[in-house]
Amino acid sequence: MRKFADLLDRFVSYTAFDTMSNSALCGKKRPTADGEEELLLHLKSELEALGLEVYYGKEKVVAGKLKGNSDGEPVAFMAHVDTADDVPGNGVKAMVWPDYDGSDIVLDGITIERKTNPDLGNYIGGTIITSSGDTLLGADDKAGVAIIMEALGYLVSHPEIRHPDIEVFFTPDEETGSGMSEFPYEKMESRICYTFDGGREGEVETECFNAASVRFSIHGTVFHFGDARGRMHNALTAAAHIVTALPGSESPEATDGRYGYYCPTDIKGTAGEAELSVIIRDFSEENFERRLKALQALAESIGLLHGVSIETDADIQYRNMAKANSQRPEALEAVYKAAEKLSIKLEETLIRGGTDGAALAYNGIASPNIFTGAHNMHSLTEWVALEAMERGTELMLAIIEEMVR
Ligand SMILES: [Zn+2]
Repeated sequence: MRKFADLLDRFVSYTAFDTMSNSALCGKKRPTADGEEELLLHLKSELEALGLEVYYGKEKVVAGKLKGNSDGEPVAFMAHVDTADDVPGNGVKAMVWPDYDGSDIVLDGITIERKTNPDLGNYIGGTIITSSGDTLLGADDKAGVAIIMEALGYLVSHPEIRHPDIEVFFTPDEETGSGMSEFPYEKMESRICYTFDGGREGEVETECFNAASVRFSIHGTVFHFGDARGRMHNALTAAAHIVTALPGSESPEATDGRYGYYCPTDIKGTAGEAELSVIIRDFSEENFERRLKALQALAESIGLLHGVSIETDADIQYRNMAKANSQRPEALEAVYKAAEKLSIKLEETLIRGGTDGAALAYNGIASPNIFTGAHNMHSLTEWVALEAMERGTELMLAIIEEMVR
């Protein structure tokens, strides 16, 4: 086992940046939090200190390149610097629990229970890192950032290790879904880019949803309610009818695994004008297209039923990355070979959501998502084990070895 002396301090130092992204500012401010820019600039100078060539431009994405000392396919690694806003995400005070004894971890006002966190049992004698209990920790995805930085530091201080060109990317605003809306693709030479943004140790993800948001704009006809009979066409009634027509068995709360769904996410309006948003999610492209058609057909028939006019506007949010990953099987093969050398048991899981990798995949770049060791992401009980991050760092180095020709 290699020694990664700086990994813990590195991770803890990143958690201190106030990087809670804010979807209300998407499209107005990039990155959406000042602390994200501070961390991006900090990473830029760390990369420069390691001797990498670094680009940081208007896209607010840090792109670093470590020149290879050997032939082989260039390979990229990526992580996001922002943290979620589901619970307070700024003012994080990371707590380090060395020599973990297997008991419940009691934080200020909240307890991380061993019985609901069975994976804690894998790290007895190890080092657990948590927040102080009133914020998230931010292991999603600062554990990923720390893994990538530590592996780079290791390579630079061990010039005898052969490697091809290595590229690293740190993105803002992933949690808002807008992180990849501007991405300097021309700065990426690699056709394989691993994201370190997964969960429990051993997990690797190669598939995510196809995702769209469909907006219904409903135009009714309003009359004085006393005179409305036969003349009024209520836009809100039609909107509500669209919602109730969606199959309840195909909702987020009734599906898991490979099942897709519809979900109304926003409704507002008056009898005259109403707006409704429905998201659709599906792993299968064919089912995804069917769902899009179904919503279109629903708009037509509900419009006719209620005598209102309905326009729909479908925004494709991201696509399943399975296709790009299967077109470059060597991307996943390298993860398996590397994991085998390190005796890490891999578990392939599905992302019932999207990742920054999905946007890369849409551009033909294979982008398996690899574990960081983070647990209970987006919550006050978020935790990560140092040993899982060490294994992630080992895995990154072993993947790089697989790329040498
Ligand atoms: Zn993440």
